[in-house]
Amino acid sequence: MSGYSIKSAGGIKYISFNIFSDTGFVRHAFTTRLGGVSQGPFRSLNLATHVGDHREAVLENRAAVCAALGFGLDEMVAGQQVHGKRVYVVTGEDRGRGAADSETAIPETDALITNVPGILLSSYYADCVPVMLLDPVKKAVGLVHAGWKGTAMRIACAALAAMSEAFGTDPIHCLAAIAPSIGDCCYEVDRPLVDAFNQYGFDPGPFLKQTGENRWRLDLCGANRHILEESGVRPGNIAVTGLCAACSPELFFSYRRSGSCGRMASLMALV
Ligand SMILES: [Zn+2]
Repeated sequence: MSGYSIKSAGGIKYISFNIFSDTGFVRHAFTTRLGGVSQGPFRSLNLATHVGDHREAVLENRAAVCAALGFGLDEMVAGQQVHGKRVYVVTGEDRGRGAADSETAIPETDALITNVPGILLSSYYADCVPVMLLDPVKKAVGLVHAGWKGTAMRIACAALAAMSEAFGTDPIHCLAAIAPSIGDCCYEVDRPLVDAFNQYGFDPGPFLKQTGENRWRLDLCGANRHILEESGVRPGNIAVTGLCAACSPELFFSYRRSGSCGRMASLMALV
């Protein structure tokens, strides 16, 4: 199931998933690199403060993205992503944390979940897999940042478990989307990475294609889809764009392709 479109608001272009917008009670986006004011390797819609871009430009970009979704910058929440598996339950008191600086961001967390309407969760990407979650029954949302380490640690499963504990979520009702990340076309890995995956208790075998001696291409997106299904999300409730960030330099930032670059964001809020 794909079911996405590229929307435009205030010059900003972003990906929107039908399964979320059809519910009518959530606003969400996965941004492209188009429509911002940043220059050079961050051209133009860089949304991350920690990559070497001018802070004023990032804040202008963030404010514009928030406005495109009908929010103010002070309603956004961001975490300090560390490729861990900690999930944080965002409450009303967290409103605005990490929106304008990284010091106030929620420390050491790669997954944010909330059931409080009017708080815009945000998470930042250049190649890692963005997983977006919506429980339309208990009315809760979640954003999961899954690089190879987060994938190996099954952070998407951890986020669903945290939603079950905090909100009574049953994954069988959940809607999920996997936004653009590095595709298996462009993500070549070596033996140490494959071994590391196994050490975390996740066999990447079904998601590897051998390209040479001790070289494989890894399908991180497919691995996360598998983790969602294994956690109880129905296959028909998972939307995947199939777009590779590294293959579309005009649309997306890619760390593996470019090194120094900006970050896209996934954003989601109950309204
Ligand atoms: Zn590619």
